[in-house]
Amino acid sequence: MNEQESKFSRRDFFKGAVASGVAATTVGLMAACSPQAKGKGNDTPLSSTGDIAWDVETDVLVVGFGAAGASAAIEAKRGGAEVTIVETTEAGGGSTVLCGGFIYLGGTPLQEQLGVKDSVEETLKYMTAAAGPYANQEALKIYCENGPDTYQFCIDCGIKFGENLDLNHGVSGRAGIGLAYSGNELQAPYRDIAVPAPRGHSTGDACGKGIFEPMKKTVEAEGIQVVYGANAERLIRDETGRVIGAEVTCDGKQQYFRAAKAVILAGGGFTMNRDMIDANNRFTTPFGGPIGNPNELGTCIKMGQEVGADLFGMSQICYTCFIYGTDTSTAKAILVDKTGRRIISETSYGSWVGEALMANGPEAYLVFDSALKGSFDGSGDSPEFEAGAIAGATEFEAGTITELAEQLGIDPLSLENTVALYNTFAEQGEDGQFGKEPEYLAPIATPPFYARPYGSESAFYTSEGGLKTDVESHVISVSGDVIPGLYAAGRCSSLIYGHYMGSGTSIADCITFGRIAGQNAAAETA
Ligand SMILES: Cc1cc2nc3c(=O)[nH]c(=O)nc-3n(C[C@H](O)[C@H](O)[C@H](O)COP(=O)(O)OP(=O)(O)OC[C@H]3O[C@@H](n4cnc5c(N)ncnc54)[C@H](O)[C@@H]3O)c2cc1C
Repeated sequence: MNEQESKFSRRDFFKGAVASGVAATTVGLMAACSPQAKGKGNDTPLSSTGDIAWDVETDVLVVGFGAAGASAAIEAKRGGAEVTIVETTEAGGGSTVLCGGFIYLGGTPLQEQLGVKDSVEETLKYMTAAAGPYANQEALKIYCENGPDTYQFCIDCGIKFGENLDLNHGVSGRAGIGLAYSGNELQAPYRDIAVPAPRGHSTGDACGKGIFEPMKKTVEAEGIQVVYGANAERLIRDETGRVIGAEVTCDGKQQYFRAAKAVILAGGGFTMNRDMIDANNRFTTPFGGPIGNPNELGTCIKMGQEVGADLFGMSQICYTCFIYGTDTSTAKAILVDKTGRRIISETSYGSWVGEALMANGPEAYLVFDSALKGSFDGSGDSPEFEAGAIAGATEFEAGTITELAEQLGIDPLSLENTVALYNTFAEQGEDGQFGKEPEYLAPIATPPFYARPYGSESAFYTSEGGLKTDVESHVISVSGDVIPGLYAAGRCSSLIYGHYMGSGTSIADCITFGRIAGQNAAAETA
């Protein structure tokens, strides 16, 4: 066996972001509640709501200060309500501040400015096809129709997008880039369903900070009260079943926050709650680690369930693995499973690759020749690609495809057939199997040949799904009714997934339905 130790250690490109999230939480747990919170905690039983001595009284109480909570709070305040946000950490930001900085929108002034032809209609066609039938179709329509307005909201908050267009596939924010293809727009069949357009509006290398910090400044400028180090534990209802507030732990003390109009749950997903992930995982194959902030524990989902809320889309956990990164030439290789067959177009967005690995795994290999290896090996330009490869895995090398297959334990005939077919596609300039773009078709013909292990355990996961809401962001009960006084937005809720359609769809969803929640909560009667 002619093996060589892989130089491609798992250099998870999200590692730094996650580490900073841990630090923020530690500070948050030690922090006292803001001095703005008045009154004393008490132990009044929640069943006798009339007797509760409220510590804080407001119109709209928002739980969680990420993109969804900030958007909801801003709109509720602009709608004339007094608004209080409770945030368990010291600084807020959640997964929003850790994110790649993409916001997925179509028909915006930035697209026009950069010469991109796009529209709400084409965006909706792509989103509908990519999300699949499981997604709430009405919600997708609202998301897309609101796109230009969502963009304006971002600009008004002070979010700055880069000034340049990237016509390649974008994965993470890069200096100066304002617009990139951040989904599967260029892939078959999507490119035939909707005119492809770059819709990933990017804050460049400012990433998630470029989104959250301007939002935070806007919240402060609007005079919205934010109570940090305040962990919401339970919702409080009155005798009619209406949600009227929440029990919040501040500095180790129980406090009662009254919301005269409504409570908006915006505490993020359940990525970091392994029990919830295991309970909703739809695959039997092993997978990699979580990507999120440490407080993505599903607490808002549980709080909603305790007052009778239904759930939606919990099993749509997103498994992601990128074949390419800043250097997209790695996508010229082929991804084969243990039977030696290609399993997907290699330029597919990471959530499609992750799903393919989960469905065809656990073992898969990225196969390439020395001509291609020369174009990316050791360049260091593709941390996402390195992140995708299995940690500490051995890279295989052989003089022929037959020998390579033997090393991998794959039927040589099968791998030879796959490579021969792919080489025909490369020669003809058309991928007859998966429709990969012609510029990513290159023959695998120059020995030695290589295979890099790329199994399902390199797929990281994030939760999708959460509290069932309607398109007005009301939380819906298991009996199908609106729970009075309760809204939810962002990753603790779920409307638009389906399959994860690309980078930026989550933040855009948080803003769209967070704003709707805020507007409707402000319009409630106190
Ligand atoms: C590394 C990474 C990169 C990503 N890149 C992108 C991208 O480029 N584009 C995109 O669209 N999406 C991206 N995502 C996904 C996106 O960041 C999240 O889906 C989104 O930020 C969720 O926003 P949110 O407001 O729902 O929750 P969060 O931003 O997580 O905010 C929730 C807040 O609630 C607080 N909280 C939780 N429970 C409680 C409680 N009980 N009481 C009080 N406070 C509570 C948390 O501390 C947190 O601050 C990325 C995610 C990660 C992890």
